[in-house]
Amino acid sequence: MMSSGKLDTSVAYLKGVGPRKGDLLGKELQIYTLRDLLFHFPFRYVDRTKFYRIGDLTAHHDQVQLKGVLRGLQVVGSGRKKRMTGRLRDESGVIDLVWFKGLHWLEKHLQIGMEYVVFGRVNAFQGRLSVPHPEMEAATDVSVRQAATLSPVYPSTEKLASHGLDARGQRKLIKQVLQIVGPDDIPETLPASVLSAYRFPGRAEALRGIHFPRDTAEMHGAINRLKFEELFFLQLRLLRLRNARRAAARSFVFDKVGDYFLNFFHHHLPFALTNAQKRVIKEVRRDLGSGCQMNRLLQGDVGSGKTIVALMCMLIAIDNGYQACLLAPTEILARQHFDGLAGYLEKMNLQVGLLTGSIKGKSRRHLLEALKAGEINILVGTHAVLEDPVVFQNLGLAITDEQHRFGVKQRARLWKKSREFPPHVLVMTATPIPRTLAMTLYGDLDVSVIDELPPGRKPVQTLHWFESQRARVHGFMREQIALGRQVYVVYPLIEESEALDLQNLEEGFVALQRAFPMPDYQISIVHGRMKAEDKDFEMKRFVEGKTQIMVATTVIEVGVNVPNASVMVIENAERFGLSQLHQLRGRVGRGADQSFCILMSGNKLSNEGKERLQTMVRTTDGFEIAEADLRLRGPGDIEGTRQSGLVQLRLADLAKDGTILQAARKLASEILREDPGLNREAFLPIRRHMAKLDKQAKGWSRIS
Ligand code: ADP
Ligand code: MG
Repeated sequence: MMSSGKLDTSVAYLKGVGPRKGDLLGKELQIYTLRDLLFHFPFRYVDRTKFYRIGDLTAHHDQVQLKGVLRGLQVVGSGRKKRMTGRLRDESGVIDLVWFKGLHWLEKHLQIGMEYVVFGRVNAFQGRLSVPHPEMEAATDVSVRQAATLSPVYPSTEKLASHGLDARGQRKLIKQVLQIVGPDDIPETLPASVLSAYRFPGRAEALRGIHFPRDTAEMHGAINRLKFEELFFLQLRLLRLRNARRAAARSFVFDKVGDYFLNFFHHHLPFALTNAQKRVIKEVRRDLGSGCQMNRLLQGDVGSGKTIVALMCMLIAIDNGYQACLLAPTEILARQHFDGLAGYLEKMNLQVGLLTGSIKGKSRRHLLEALKAGEINILVGTHAVLEDPVVFQNLGLAITDEQHRFGVKQRARLWKKSREFPPHVLVMTATPIPRTLAMTLYGDLDVSVIDELPPGRKPVQTLHWFESQRARVHGFMREQIALGRQVYVVYPLIEESEALDLQNLEEGFVALQRAFPMPDYQISIVHGRMKAEDKDFEMKRFVEGKTQIMVATTVIEVGVNVPNASVMVIENAERFGLSQLHQLRGRVGRGADQSFCILMSGNKLSNEGKERLQTMVRTTDGFEIAEADLRLRGPGDIEGTRQSGLVQLRLADLAKDGTILQAARKLASEILREDPGLNREAFLPIRRHMAKLDKQAKGWSRIS
């Protein structure tokens, strides 16, 4: 059995806790042991050096610390209105104190006539000031009063507060823990060289410093060290997973660059590759020749040229005698890929097949036979490719476009399509993921980035106009239509306000019909409530250029490609998220003409809304936008993170701690490169801590 240290002791054994409060700490805060309590970090600190004079308080004061004598405690009201009031007096005045919860406990513990240090928010009701639910501390209670200037504030709940476990109660407990445990109970986890390089405090010191810092410098030092530790061990774990996967997952060795690849490269490639494209192809080639299974994520903004990279990688597989497949999330996209690849390969002696749900009967049968016989070199398709009757002769490389919709299960099915080894896998996505997030979400994958657009692209020009400039917008649309261009007008539609949103769309449509009357102008309208065939009909009219304006909800976000549409007007743009605005804007800028995106908003904007629109105006760089999105919304809302338990960090914030993350990642990879088994004496602290973390992780997986 593992020897359990003091830190594994139940909180119930602490002075003033006991079984009932112990249970409560577990239920409300998942705190069971002394360790949990020690790692229950403050979410902010308040300056407690300062005392306000009661006579100086106004309704504008927020949190204040007061010192005075408690007077006239009484319980008033009954039932749900029951509350306790008291009055605090100092030499300058008197203020009301009010409690609604935990009256029983308070009645027993508060003493009239005693001097208290009181901390809380000033509330004004009908001109009368009060402090609801203040923290109360006997002014003489030096065991809790500290010399520190910064007082930690911990998350609490009403239930906890009513049992005396508010921030102050928790503070007392943590103080107790720090007295009980010594440095031996908190072994160092980082090598001495790292501590000195970053001037980090030792671990025990940091844990004391984060709870009870003597000054802000100590607080920052402690927080940074603990964040670094958290991120370092996360990265170490991910990198070790990656190494283990690399070592275990053997796959086909594609060591040849043969005729198909070279022939295509020299004779059929319609343009010069960008440096970014070349770099990615090199990275993939290295993977394919290594004998280990490739598991690579390829990120590249809309229009960055991922398709040609995918094709050239598939040619490598074919040169080595294997088949390849390319999977897309929708039938439209699969068809577009099929047409595109067939076009590129027109003059080459290669067979490309298309398999989607709507390909049935005889043609499906023929296709499957040819696939099995190895007569098809490249199969393009939707998830229909994953079905059991689809058998390859020898699948060597699988590429997926827009991976979010391909889950782990689907990938596992794909792996079964291959005989001896699992196929190499390349996952492509146009949703840029900020580097810091990618490192963590896909930390065990290899990541390639196309960070350069093909030359000659005119970036979409983005403008932010206000409702009051409506006439100007119409004028601009008329000019562009006169030049032969087409225009999208997009309205937001979200579930919570669907009825109102649809009304907006209808009204907008009517207003546009008035401003752009028939027969000179034709307008299409498409929204999610329409029947599929009506939608297709309207869409088709626009694609064929029979209508000049397409009024739509976000249904156009995916799949449509109309190079002649060079203007996008986004109504109520402040209501869209940044990544959605970016995806929408990607619909224009596909032809040779200068394209425009006009963001319309009301005059009143929230700060965040303003920043989103300014970001869109400032840049077309998907990564920059993704970074801004991460900063504005936090990692929790970014696509893909919610499903990943990995991002549940205790202290570090992926949106804000990018610098620390990068340093931690760098150190982790250096250490693993030098000493993969962490056998060196200097790395002993790391190895010990990893073993502990592994054990904990196993424990969790048993529970869940
Ligand atoms: P995405 O990354 O969005 O899938 P595509 O592969 O569809 O981008 O490429 C967008 C367009 O750019 C296509 O028309 C393609 O032919 C063109 N393209 C790709 N690479 C280059 C290049 N190196 N030079 C010029 N045009 C390119
Ligand atoms: Mg694409």
